[in-house]
Amino acid sequence: MSNNQLYSGDSSTTDFDQNLLCHVLVIGGGPAGTWAAWSAASAGSKVILVDKGYCGTSGCAAASGNGVWYVPPEPEAREAAMASREAMGGFLSSRDWMQRVLDQTYANVNLLAEWGYPFPVDEEGKSYRRSLQGPEYMRLMRKQIKRAGVKILDHSPALQLLVDAEGAVTGATGVNRQTSQKWVVRSHAVIIATGGCAFLSKALGCNVLTGDGYLMAAEAGAEMSGMEFSNAYGIAPAFSSVTKTLFYNWATFTYADGTPIPGAGSQKGRSVIAKTLLTQPVYAILDKATDEMRVHMRLAQPNFFLPFDRAGIDPFTQHFPVTLRLEGTVRGTGGIRITDYTCASSVPGLYAAGDAATRELICGGFTGGGSHNAAWAISSGYWAGHSAAVYARKLGKQTNQRQVEAVGEAGFTSGSQRQINSEEIIKATQAEVFPYDRNYFSPHHPISPPPKPHD
Ligand SMILES: Cc1cc2nc3c(=O)[nH]c(=O)nc-3n(C[C@H](O)[C@H](O)[C@H](O)COP(=O)(O)OP(=O)(O)OC[C@H]3O[C@@H](n4cnc5c(N)ncnc54)[C@H](O)[C@@H]3O)c2cc1C
Repeated sequence: MSNNQLYSGDSSTTDFDQNLLCHVLVIGGGPAGTWAAWSAASAGSKVILVDKGYCGTSGCAAASGNGVWYVPPEPEAREAAMASREAMGGFLSSRDWMQRVLDQTYANVNLLAEWGYPFPVDEEGKSYRRSLQGPEYMRLMRKQIKRAGVKILDHSPALQLLVDAEGAVTGATGVNRQTSQKWVVRSHAVIIATGGCAFLSKALGCNVLTGDGYLMAAEAGAEMSGMEFSNAYGIAPAFSSVTKTLFYNWATFTYADGTPIPGAGSQKGRSVIAKTLLTQPVYAILDKATDEMRVHMRLAQPNFFLPFDRAGIDPFTQHFPVTLRLEGTVRGTGGIRITDYTCASSVPGLYAAGDAATRELICGGFTGGGSHNAAWAISSGYWAGHSAAVYARKLGKQTNQRQVEAVGEAGFTSGSQRQINSEEIIKATQAEVFPYDRNYFSPHHPISPPPKPHD
């Protein structure tokens, strides 16, 4: 730990441009981070939230439409919801957790309606709450946490966690990307809500999702769980980042000469596509969508069509090349291990929520995309925020006087003689994790998901 800086307990550390104190520090400002911040602030904590980008537009939820596991509390509907992915997840999920997530998600999505989220209304006047448009959703969440008194540091990635002599997490340090100023936040508790890791595969909304939270947590001693279920791939036009796969339900997949690829449109079609891509390009055409559906599809997912419009391609009548983009733990289910209902990690003072935390508890080994992940971000964020606030209160006022130390060196070179060539490291890592024959066809791959209603 020789390269790691020590911080005196009186918060007068002068090496930092911004030196702040709070009860709960939230790292990451997507759905999980904003629900955590709101929940902690509502429980009476002074909260700071730092985001690598701009909280409200950064991360994968902000970039797309999100189907949510929103199921009314009717026994039959709940039973069907819980049973739906149990077998596909290898029965590794837990009914207790599923029930809790369904309850909390239902309550919190209804809260969004109270806050003014513009849910569409059907012909009978019933509000449709199973989907959230990312930009609207995250703009509302930013507004709500500001109202709750949360201080937001945008464009301020966290780089290292702080720990005390007993190893309890007590804050973090980072940098402001726009000013290059360094910041340190001393806190009673920290919530990691930094999303998943998509290995810079250029999947929509995922460029900021480089697994920083996993690294920081691991460097502080946290345990991971389910990381073998982290190799989810999404279908995308080869020329675009958009991995929304629902509309490929109405696709015919073909070879370059237009001949359909046998089995590519089936439930296990993604593996067939992956196998074909190992030797030749794969094309798609959304020719199974009726004229009426085509109009609805545009209205439902406008961003799906943007790349086609830019390229001058009509996906309903023209073939276009497709690829599979690695979405890692963004749609895979591994992450920081949660020890109990508080969403505490295995390190005191450190909590995890959203894609940063394992979703095995509700998904088992199967993808959480399409509904479960969005519900988990809401629920785990809410619980982590509340629990961190309770933990902070128990620690008492003197706790920020502790002498603490920044841990972790892998992503942090300041003060070290070591030079890191990040381009080389990124390339070497991608060479390990991108290839389908190395990663997709591994024995632990979560069963290739059929497109779900909001995937
Ligand atoms: C195209 C696409 C469509 C999807 N559709 C669905 C769907 O329909 N239904 C569903 O259930 N799930 C869906 N998902 C998954 C879902 O979006 C995620 O599960 C959800 O956004 C997780 O929320 P989060 O807050 O954990 O992470 P994110 O929304 O990814 O937010 C993470 C935040 O952490 C910040 N961050 C990262 N590193 C740092 C750092 N070092 N310091 C500070 N901040 C940091 C990022 O800037 C970002 O703002 C989709 C994913 C993609 C990519």
